[in-house]
Amino acid sequence: MKPTLSVCPYCGTGCMFHLLQDDNGRLIGVEPSGGHPVSRGQLCVKGWNAHAFVQHPDRLTKPLIRRNGALEPAEWDEALDLVHSRLHQIADRHGRDSLMFLSSAKVSNEENYLLMKLARAGFGTNNIDHCARLCHSSTVTGLVETLGSGAMTNSINCIDQTDLILVIGSNTTAQHPLIGSRILQAVQRGTQLIVADSRKIRLSRHTDLHLRHRNGTDVALLNGIMRQIIAEGLEDRTFIEQRTENFAALKESLEPYTLQRTAELTGLEPEQIIATARLFAGADKAMLFYAMGITQHSHGVDNVRAVSNLALLTGNLGRPGTGINPLRGQNNVQGACDMGALPDVYSGYQKVSDPAVRKKFSRAWGVPLPDNPGMMSTHAIDAAVAGTLKGFFILGENPILSDANQAHVRQALENLDFLVTIDIFMTETCELADVVLPASCYAEKDGTFTNTERRIQHGRTAISSPGEARTDWHIITELLKRCGLIADYTNPSQIMDEIAQVTPSYGGISYDRLDINGLCWPCPDQKHPGTPILHRDQCTRGKGHFSPVSYKASKELPDAEYPLLLSTGRTYFHWHTGTMTRRSHLLDREERKAFAELNPKDAEKLGVREQQKIRISSRRGTIEVMAELTDRVPPGQVFVPFHFAEGAANVLTNNALDPESGIPEFKVCAVRVEAL
Ligand code: SF4
Repeated sequence: MKPTLSVCPYCGTGCMFHLLQDDNGRLIGVEPSGGHPVSRGQLCVKGWNAHAFVQHPDRLTKPLIRRNGALEPAEWDEALDLVHSRLHQIADRHGRDSLMFLSSAKVSNEENYLLMKLARAGFGTNNIDHCARLCHSSTVTGLVETLGSGAMTNSINCIDQTDLILVIGSNTTAQHPLIGSRILQAVQRGTQLIVADSRKIRLSRHTDLHLRHRNGTDVALLNGIMRQIIAEGLEDRTFIEQRTENFAALKESLEPYTLQRTAELTGLEPEQIIATARLFAGADKAMLFYAMGITQHSHGVDNVRAVSNLALLTGNLGRPGTGINPLRGQNNVQGACDMGALPDVYSGYQKVSDPAVRKKFSRAWGVPLPDNPGMMSTHAIDAAVAGTLKGFFILGENPILSDANQAHVRQALENLDFLVTIDIFMTETCELADVVLPASCYAEKDGTFTNTERRIQHGRTAISSPGEARTDWHIITELLKRCGLIADYTNPSQIMDEIAQVTPSYGGISYDRLDINGLCWPCPDQKHPGTPILHRDQCTRGKGHFSPVSYKASKELPDAEYPLLLSTGRTYFHWHTGTMTRRSHLLDREERKAFAELNPKDAEKLGVREQQKIRISSRRGTIEVMAELTDRVPPGQVFVPFHFAEGAANVLTNNALDPESGIPEFKVCAVRVEAL
């Protein structure tokens, strides 16, 4: 068997493994990499099965062009010429900002960099975004404001050095399984664990305190905890004085969050808030972990600010075993952000509105660049519905299933003059496209991927692509050339060299330095060893900024017509829209059908039995799924995983947006359940 070192294509934990190939060139399995600092010779079930979808017969193998309403096979040159000419026609007729580019957290850093270059230099628009808009845009906005950097502050290995872990809004063992198991191992060694989540999750079985606060009341909970910490004099005064600013404003803002009021808003007991305050502030080193339970709200940025305030208040920043640790979802969502697949920044978070930065990129790419920040992807959907957005270029994303309010997204994509998608399988979004380009998957290309702890890792080519499928960087290079730009890349390492030249935090990254350990950014020069822990002596912005926030209710709460609260999320066996995991036979076998978790008390009132089909309706649509009766969800709440197209949770979800980050409120909306 021939082993090739690669990076797991699923979650942001970023485990590395060897893809195993037989003498006939077929992938036959996966072997964990014993020397890898994160996976340490282990994988979760998705990692063990990461080879299974690669050679699936459903892979796209030839470009497709829509003719007379149907997608028909075409030659590469014809398809690329058509993409180039149609996008330019639209830009000429309706303006450059009538185009939108959606990049992907599943493709490499080099490919994200090239797509943002294509949007900005090739088509003159900053309208580029990616799926971080749907998961951690609140983190980027909130943490940049309070710390100066929107990334995870510490490393996964810090779990081994901490005294206490607070997990809020993260089903870690399902979504980031190896980080979840590292937390469980720490608990076995005596580390204390607090879980704040309305659902009973696997981690909550092993916790010192499980706070089942109402969905959407995180700000009230965190403010109540902080008020209690200050009331008992447990804050870290030295850290506050030396490393932070705006403490007086924070303290004043917390006054309304008395134990009584916090208990009323969150549904918790005052004693639980007191116990949490004492445990958290009493730990010498505490780590905060959070994920989309915090970010996916119409007040997601406020939630992130509150998390950051708690870490600053207790001095849990800049040391091993501490930190604010947003767990990034997909395997390269951190890298897609780092590479500037965002509407307001180039790679390395360099602002498009800064004339000096613009001049630097303009000189490097040889063309003038637009100065107005571009559109967020969630706003682009609204613009397409309104008819002002005409052309959409989607790389490796499936917004029909992944965005909130499916009917609205479908209307947007159907309203476009031209839609082009690049993907490995025919997704629900590809079915609406005018041109579909077949892409290579992770096992068929070289590229770097940046995991949740900012570790840049090099995945290698194990096998060749099926049929005529091409790597994304090859496809985008062809389009850059058609736009008249110099793009003579023959290997992704050359693209990384260009990234390093224009991106200070990646300045020391080159392929010859990326061994099994990778490198954590910032890594400004070739001799720099990388930076596993941020904000050591001071925050990136200087002083850590306390940013006071007050509780705001979610946009749509249960009422007489829609009396239950819907929350969405992931399961252990599947990944996002199921495009890959549902084509992996072992994962598919373990969890085959769309389902909803319903509390037995609600089920009794509604006359629903275990495994009975139910209809779930919101103001936006209706789905039919099987009921799973469980006290994992509290009474009054329904949980639907969003992996299943035939029972798509996002038919129901609310596309109300956070006004600052543009993230939709996936985690709270009102629904009605009927037995069928
Ligand atoms: Fe892959 Fe994440 Fe599982 Fe690691 S924990 S094997 S990166 S899915």
